[in-house]
Amino acid sequence: METTGMDARIAPLDRAHQHATSWLESLSTRDVPATASADEVAAALGDLPARPGDATETVDLLAKACEPGLVAMPSGRFFGFVIGGTHPAALAADWLVSAWDQNDGIRFATPAAAAVEEVAGRWLLDLLGLPADAAVGFPTSATTANFTCLAAARDTVLRRAGHDVGRDGLTGAPRVRVLMGEEGHESVVYALRYLGLGEPERVAVDEQGRIDPAALVAALASVRGAPAIVVLQAGNVHSGAFDPFGPAIAAAHEAGAWVHVDGAFGLFAAASPTLRHLTEGYAAADSWTTDAHKTLNVPYDCGIAIVRDAEALGAVTGKHGDYLVNKQVGDPCDKVPELSRRARGIPVWAVLRSLGREGVADLVDGFARHARTFADGVREIPGAEVLNDVVYSQVCVSFGGDERTGEITRRVLADGTTWMSGSRWHGRAVLRISVSDWATDVDDVRRSLDALCRCAA
Ligand SMILES: *Cc1c(COP(=O)(O)O)cnc(C)c1O
Repeated sequence: METTGMDARIAPLDRAHQHATSWLESLSTRDVPATASADEVAAALGDLPARPGDATETVDLLAKACEPGLVAMPSGRFFGFVIGGTHPAALAADWLVSAWDQNDGIRFATPAAAAVEEVAGRWLLDLLGLPADAAVGFPTSATTANFTCLAAARDTVLRRAGHDVGRDGLTGAPRVRVLMGEEGHESVVYALRYLGLGEPERVAVDEQGRIDPAALVAALASVRGAPAIVVLQAGNVHSGAFDPFGPAIAAAHEAGAWVHVDGAFGLFAAASPTLRHLTEGYAAADSWTTDAHKTLNVPYDCGIAIVRDAEALGAVTGKHGDYLVNKQVGDPCDKVPELSRRARGIPVWAVLRSLGREGVADLVDGFARHARTFADGVREIPGAEVLNDVVYSQVCVSFGGDERTGEITRRVLADGTTWMSGSRWHGRAVLRISVSDWATDVDDVRRSLDALCRCAA
């Protein structure tokens, strides 16, 4: 086997293409859960060889060892967490990103990668109805997007209070009050921890997890003048509910607070004429987080951080260094915490280009339609109760007591036809059905509902 020259480059790719094709072809029929454990896969990968080997053979070993340990997350029957699948245009573009191998930090050094990201960013702002001059960065996830936006928020509210975090650090800074609904996502808590801001103060929510504007007003009464950030949510992971943005943002701005919206999967409701009302008023916020690896069905990892005041973002994430030749303000690396980066905006551009405005709207409308089909089907199961209003893509189910709900969740996993996650909401065990895969069709929903009915019988 030739180990140098062009064939040596192409042969492993051809083989990877064959393995990828087999994987994608298996998705419509294979069981969703893995059949091998992580320990079994690790054993099959073998030991570190002493000498170099053939790259194609390595690809074969990898595919063979991993196959039984793969979960069919990109299948139309995976409804766990909010994972999304892989749109064909995004997957193909992602392969090109790997082949091109651009260190996408600086416009001058990697013009193509920077250009595609800029176009993707503009299209996103247009689709989401957000200010056209906002900065758009592509970090690894909604967690890092929350971190990115909240870093800009922290520095801005402290700068207004006369404290320069970039120069003086947090030591000696006034306390930043951070207010968030009781059902805000844990990833915000992580981001605040990384930022040295501690735990957020929790504000009361209604039965669907939406922040209570009256409780927010009451909490803000003691904030007046002090540096403060209010974190709102577009898409509660249990109920799918959206915070009442109009009154909440008005109250927060009245108190001088920065408003951040965590919309990891919910932000894209704004791209649908039929669901847009859920995000009403949200464009008045100061920053927004969403994910491309959820709703947009871009392969992992890709988050999206949007900040209204591009300068505020650049002030905290901006990079400099003598070796960064021809570095300009607003380079891709100025919009995310990291300097060297995979050009994550490229698959985002590809999926937007491939779907178009109407395709994105149809995608999120389809998620909501499938969620309602699930809710209607679940209500036919004796003893089952749908706990949420099903306004978007989430269905949260209790089958009576915690024990029965837990048992049915385990049976669904063992059955293998579909994957739905167990969780706890409002002190009860629940089964969560999250619809977020472009590939899910009515047949996937029917088969998955049949499996759930079987397991609940
Ligand atoms: C999934 C999710 C996150 C975290 O997203 P990652 O991309 O996994 O970091 C944050 N907020 C909400 C509301 C989510 O659903």
